[in-house]
Formats: sequence, C-alpha cells, structure tokens
Amino acid sequence: MECMTEITLNVGAGQTEKRVLLDLSLEELTEVVTGLGQPAYRARQIWEWVYKHYAVSFDEMANLPKTLREKLAAEWVISPLESAIRILSQDGDTQKVLFRLADGQTIETVLMLYDKRRTLCISSQAGCAMGCTFCATAQGGLARNLTSGEIVAQVLYFARYLAKADAEPPMDVERPTAVTNVVLMGMGEPMHNYRNVWTALRLLTDADAFGLGARHITLSTVGLIPMIDRMADEGLQIALAVSLHAPNDELRSSLVPLNSRYPVADLLAAVRRYIDKTHRRVTFEYALMAGINDSPALAEELAEKLSPLLCHVNVIPLNPIPDSPFQPTSDADTLRFVEILRAGGVPATVRLRRGIEINAGCGQLRQAAQRMAA
Ligand code: SAH
Repeated sequence: MECMTEITLNVGAGQTEKRVLLDLSLEELTEVVTGLGQPAYRARQIWEWVYKHYAVSFDEMANLPKTLREKLAAEWVISPLESAIRILSQDGDTQKVLFRLADGQTIETVLMLYDKRRTLCISSQAGCAMGCTFCATAQGGLARNLTSGEIVAQVLYFARYLAKADAEPPMDVERPTAVTNVVLMGMGEPMHNYRNVWTALRLLTDADAFGLGARHITLSTVGLIPMIDRMADEGLQIALAVSLHAPNDELRSSLVPLNSRYPVADLLAAVRRYIDKTHRRVTFEYALMAGINDSPALAEELAEKLSPLLCHVNVIPLNPIPDSPFQPTSDADTLRFVEILRAGGVPATVRLRRGIEINAGCGQLRQAAQRMAA
C-alpha cells in the first residue's frame, strides 16, 4: 500500500435499467434510430461519436438534434462501466481501474505505459471458472460472462482518458494519447466467453469503429483446444498466447485444472495446427514459481517440446497472491531458466513486472476490494 500515489473511490451512483449502446452493432443502432423516426445516417453520426471521439454522454453529440439526444438518453446509456476504484503506481506508468457493472459485479482493467506502447490489459469475464491454483481471479470462481459492450467499454474508457490532455489523474510521464495495444490478460478466460469476446474484437479492429490493428491485440488462453482451432479460422490477425506454466501433464494438471481435459500433447498439437494455418508465432506464458516449475530439468523438457514450434516464451515472475503457497522464483533462477530455453532453441524473454505494488496482477484488486467490503 505504501507505494501507491493515488487511490480514488467512487461510491455507487445507483444502478441503471437502461440499455447499453455499446452492446449494439451498427445495424442494430440504425434500427433504433430509424425506430425513433430519424434518418439512418444519424446512426453513423452516433457511431462516430462513440468509437472515434469516445463520447460517454449523448449531450456531447453536438450535431444531433436535441430532441433525439433526449430520447436516446431516456432509454440508453453508452457505457455500462462505472469506475469504482482507481489506483496509480508511484512511477506513474501503471494505472488500474476497478469497474462496477450495472448488476454490481466488478472487473479490473490495467493501463501500462511502456516506451512507445500504451498497453491495456482487459477482462473478458467477471471472475473465472478455470481454477488455476496460483491465480487470484480463480479463487472467487466465475460470476458471469461480460457482454461485448462491457469488453469494448474498457478500451474506450482508457482511449478517452489518454486522448484528454487534462485527464485526471495526470500520469507522470510524457503524455501518450492513444491505446496502442490490447491484451486479453485481465480477469477471465476469453475462450470461455468466445462469442462476446469476438464480437468485441471485431468492433475494436473495425476501421469504422475503434480501428485498432488486429496484430496489436493478444488473446491469452489457458488452452481450450476447440476454441484455438476456431480462432485459427477467424481470419483476423489477433495474436495468440497460451498459458502453459508446465511442460508435462503431471505438473500442469496440478497448476491448471483444465489440463486434465486438454493435456499438454493435445494442446501443443492444437498450437501446431494453429501455426500451420495462420503462419503466426504463438506466445507461451510461463509464470515461474519457486521450487514448483522452475528447475533446469523442467526448462530442458520445455525447450525440447517447444523448439519445433514457431513460438516465443514469456517468462513471467509470479505475482504473489494472499494465502497462496506459491512464491516467485529468484532472479538468478529466472535467468537460468531463460538461458536453458534459449540454448534449447526457444526464444524466451522475461516479462517486465508491472503494477505489482498496485495489485495489478490478475484479479487481485477485486479480491482486495471484496475483502475490505466483507
Ligand atoms: N485466462 C487467460 C487470461 C487471463 S490470465 C489465461 O489463462 O491465459 C493472464 C496471464 O496471467 C495467464 O498466463 C495467467 O496464467 C497469468 N497469471 C495468473 N495469475 C498469476 C500470478 N499470480 N502471477 C503471474 N501470472 C499469473
């Protein structure tokens, strides 16, 4: 806690029964607009306000007739998110927001400023059903899937924040003005909410909507094989990351329960099919836990299994979570692990620790907030 420079807590402003505009396609919005007796082109104007100017209220939409703005505002909200807690890291380059959804559920989104990139880590579910033993989100189980609007809204919220020169809180770095990268590595398993996630991804990459390059988006999965095959056929260049954390079934099943259903060999075969079809490099995530999955022998086993694949390993220092037996691997052992992978022909890097002091690890802020409320 001593590292935080700023925490903002918003007390709920009351839940709304209104419908959510971000859940609509352009076609559906056009139907709404024409249903109100307005010409179809008004839908495009609204669409631009929302996806290009990141409007959060109909009042901002200056080129719409006032009566239309009022009619829309009576029945619709643009975003379903309300920021409940905001935490800024001391160095000013990581910011985390806990959002409250209309039904009271909460999700986390983290903004990380790197040299040139402004990367947003977004959630795909409230909670998660996958039960990974080292993950904070898993501890509370799954509450529900996010709607596509709730997924897109996380990006638009920070796009608006970055675009506004006088946005609060100020970030203590040269002002970046746009979201450049999005990773689906927040709360939830994106492949377990496939339909809504892909509706959101299409809106985020559609040049007429948010317009972010697909290659700048990474979907991270614990390894739902049928969905990896499905993603290979999507025809959108979204990057795939697979959370491996162990090279064999015995160890992986103890860390990632889903492994009992989709074992390592089958998972790697699915990744191979994906690479053959898309010719895209896949990232494997490997969170190092002291004495659990960080031995030289495991590094060698991992290198042997991954070296035939067009891939890269992201070695992640474990984020320690409360009441967990898992501890991060030392820096020296981390380095040794990475060297063995490289020597075995597998490109590997250590992912920078970000937001540790602001509980930016998966699900940790939400958990802390729930504990405070209990
Ligand atoms: N469900 C998806 C995406 C969300 S988690 C997935 O499993 O890939 C994003 C990444 O953070 C995953 O690789 C996950 O295994 C990892 N992770 C979870 N808890 C962690 C912790 N305490 N420390 C480090 N990484 C963690």
